[in-house]
Parts: sequence; structure tokens; C-alpha cells
Amino acid sequence: MFNTERKNEKGESEIAICPLCGLRVEFIGAPMVRCYSTGETYERTNVRWIKKSKVPIETGYDVENIRGNDSVHDFLPNAHKQVDEIEA
Ligand SMILES: [Zn+2]
Repeated sequence: MFNTERKNEKGESEIAICPLCGLRVEFIGAPMVRCYSTGETYERTNVRWIKKSKVPIETGYDVENIRGNDSVHDFLPNAHKQVDEIEA
């Protein structure tokens, strides 16, 4: 398992983003990474590393598409926007 957050050479945090669906990668498999939104796989070198400050706070995790990302556990990929949990 590989870390999905890293520091670049300037010491800034970067987050692994799926190149296929643009969601956050929760874990990076080897040798291939699976995109749960599309069912496709891609190489680890294709992971997009985006500065944490540039990633919108509402960006969800790719893997949430298989475990259900709201209280009704909708397993359809991208069936709804993730607006829950943000407002306390
Ligand atoms: Zn994806």
C-alpha cells in the first residue's frame, strides 16, 4: 500500500487524484490502481498529484463509489453530489 498524500520538494502537501474520474485516491495498489468510478485500472505513474490547497474540499474518494457514499448507501457511481457531512 502506498501513501495517497505526499510532500513535494517545497514541503507542500500533495494529494493523489484519480486521472480518470478526478476523485481522491484512497489507496494506491500495485502494480495497478483501480478507478472505482469507471472500473478501469491505470498505472501508478498516472496518478495526478495535486497540491492539497488546490483540491476542492468537497472532492470525495473514488472508493466511496463502491461502499456507498451517503446514508442510503447508493452504490451507483456518481449518483449524487456529496453535499452531506459538510455542514455541521
Ligand atoms: Zn477514479
